[in-house]
Amino acid sequence: KKTRRGSASFYTPSFETDLLRRERLIRDLKTAEERGEFHLAFQPIVSLDDRTINGFEALLRWQHQDFGPVSPAEFIPLAEESGVISPIGEWVARKASQVAADWPETIRLSINLSPRQFDEPGLAATLLAILAENRFAPDRLTVEITETALIENDGAALSVIERLRAEGVRVALDDFGTGFASLSYLTRFPFDVVKIDQSFVRHSERHRQADHVIASICDLAEKLGLDTVAEGIETQEHLGRVRRAGCRRAQGYLFGRPESAADCATRIALQTLDAASLPPASRVFA
Ligand code: C2E
Ligand code: MG
Ligand code: MG
Ligand code: MG
Repeated sequence: KKTRRGSASFYTPSFETDLLRRERLIRDLKTAEERGEFHLAFQPIVSLDDRTINGFEALLRWQHQDFGPVSPAEFIPLAEESGVISPIGEWVARKASQVAADWPETIRLSINLSPRQFDEPGLAATLLAILAENRFAPDRLTVEITETALIENDGAALSVIERLRAEGVRVALDDFGTGFASLSYLTRFPFDVVKIDQSFVRHSERHRQADHVIASICDLAEKLGLDTVAEGIETQEHLGRVRRAGCRRAQGYLFGRPESAADCATRIALQTLDAASLPPASRVFA
């Protein structure tokens, strides 16, 4: 392709294409669920004490009729802007708790909440009703919230968090360490879990410095009585580093990619079988 690199016209066609795609996605998001284009993927969260899976995070997937798979990093912000995130978030909670209701009781479910969902009055009541509908105990659910949710909607977020926690739901601060005010949020909101952002293990050129930061986060979390999950663990090297830093749990491609509900059930069954019949050394994740 002959391009005039750096000239303004080089960007124009792609800018227009982007705009068209964006408009199309916004329009199609409204009916994506009805057309059956949404599904959930579940990614394992592993305890680093015994290397067993003790939870899964539900992650939304969109298979667009023309564009194919669209990443949540692209469509979640569009759903937020265009005001359709609340019904989509409810669909996620309903579907995920239906699936998780079949898991053993020791396995927890995490779902992500978007900032805009806190605008909806009665978010806590709606979520609790969905759990009850599916006979899924609230104390098996963790809701993951990023800092932006709190920045944008302080008061509403706090009352939702308190209401959910009163019923046993755990609250995780997602992507910890990427925002502007992480530390102050730890003291202002009653969290149960801190999820340490994947950038600390994955993109850091200066491992030694990054590891000191991870260790300090874990130390602080422990003092505050919070659980820690290291995100984005892709290699044994990553795993070794977060273990040494004192993280309690971990999530990442090393343990498993986000997978279908059926694959996730198989994984749980294998782990159960493994724990019952094989010596610990031959466990799947040992
Ligand atoms: P998140 O909640 O921080 O989820 C973790 C993201 O990291 C997921 O991306 C997951 O696939 C990815 N990931 C996990 N392990 C690894 C790894 O080892 N390496 C790499 N490179 N990536 C890893 P995904 O599924 O594309 O989701 C991106 C973001 O979209 C999520 O970040 C979350 O903020 C948002 N999202 C996804 N599903 C939902 C949803 O149902 N509701 C809302 N509100 N947001 C969602
Ligand atoms: Mg998350
Ligand atoms: Mg995260
Ligand atoms: Mg994220």
